[in-house]
Amino acid sequence: MQLQLAIPTNIAAPYQNNYKTIAIMSSSEYHLKCKCSAFEAVFNTPPRMVFNCQCHSCVAAIAAIESKESFNGTSMKCNTPSEENSGAAIAIYKSNNVTVTKCDESKVAFVKVGEDGKIARPYCTECGTVLFNVWAPNWCAANLNALTASDGCTYAPKKEVMNVNCKSSFDKTKISNPKHNTVPFSMLFKFIPLIAGMGCDGSNAKDEGGKLMPDDITKVESVPITWE
Ligand SMILES: [Zn+2]
Ligand SMILES: [Zn+2]
Repeated sequence: MQLQLAIPTNIAAPYQNNYKTIAIMSSSEYHLKCKCSAFEAVFNTPPRMVFNCQCHSCVAAIAAIESKESFNGTSMKCNTPSEENSGAAIAIYKSNNVTVTKCDESKVAFVKVGEDGKIARPYCTECGTVLFNVWAPNWCAANLNALTASDGCTYAPKKEVMNVNCKSSFDKTKISNPKHNTVPFSMLFKFIPLIAGMGCDGSNAKDEGGKLMPDDITKVESVPITWE
């Protein structure tokens, strides 16, 4: 949101322009942009929560997308000492707070994990940036590394980002602190209402946001499951 304030300046400087426009950027607006700007979304609030998911599925799906030869995007990998164990850096939002402002359907492709995978992660085929780890009608898990505040700087979480689902990681010993074997109760407490759709308007399924869901999940590229 941009507020335009028209300030009369004719009192101080009567022979100059009568009005001076000052743009005040709202500090509560956040943007998700892929590297090539083919995709853009705006959020009217900071993320509901942020975390790094270290589970096999997230790590494998992101690695598959980002190891494509054409990859030149903003990585969704979180900072861990080990590249093979780099989980997904996630910002959780409910549907009410997301507006997709730019989305070219021809530049969005998906990756699922396993032939029967139910989650299709949308990414930009132009630059390779993973856009969302989950895009559901009521909520989404955005690429935290591609999230910027209204000043254009990368969103900086206030606290150290928790690594979750470490029990399902490839190598727990290589994950940095703070870490949790599953998902801490405090996070679950915020998460369950979203998954249940409470307080969510389902708007992610409509308009531009609808392009972030595949027409037919059976035709989505799948990453083989190698860890069961
Ligand atoms: Zn892009
Ligand atoms: Zn995960």
